[in-house]
Amino acid sequence: MTFVITEGWFLGVEHCLSPNYGERPDGVDISLLVIHNISLPPGEYENGCIQRFFTNKLDADAHPYFAEIAHLQVSAHALITRSGELIQFVDLNKRAWHAGRSCFAGVEECNDYSIGIELEGTDCDPYTDAQYRTLSQVTQAIMHHYPSITLDRITGHSDIAPGRKTDPGESFDWTRFLQALQRAAVSERE
Ligand SMILES: [Zn+2]
Repeated sequence: MTFVITEGWFLGVEHCLSPNYGERPDGVDISLLVIHNISLPPGEYENGCIQRFFTNKLDADAHPYFAEIAHLQVSAHALITRSGELIQFVDLNKRAWHAGRSCFAGVEECNDYSIGIELEGTDCDPYTDAQYRTLSQVTQAIMHHYPSITLDRITGHSDIAPGRKTDPGESFDWTRFLQALQRAAVSERE
């Protein structure tokens, strides 16, 4: 599947609009892709809780963990579910609230200039083949649309918030992901 981005939105995918975003600083260059993981409750999948969390509708009473996080106002631009489905929450041209206190190559506040993609998962559960496939296709679309996002400007949340965040975790196979992107770039040139 080839993903198409028009005015900050992926066409033909589910849009689940989050109110948790703001404007990016004037003139900012969107130049970083941040990979995350999330699952709610941790290790449980495909139950709609992430969609509720990012739209401030998580039921604090439904699970002890939810009581700790339900008050947080956070988001990511998009989520890739275990089955490889892409769900978009925030316009890519807006500032989603995914990175928190963070720094990449000496520049703080990564939310200002990055796109955040969540993989439904944990630091230890292997991600699914469908997730790698969708992530590679989504990333190719993002790199086309935002050419300042180059291979060396794709990072993990744990890399921009070390000591505070661990995602996407040991379970994420960076080599597999980056090689898929390199293969796609080569076949495009041929
Ligand atoms: Zn994260």
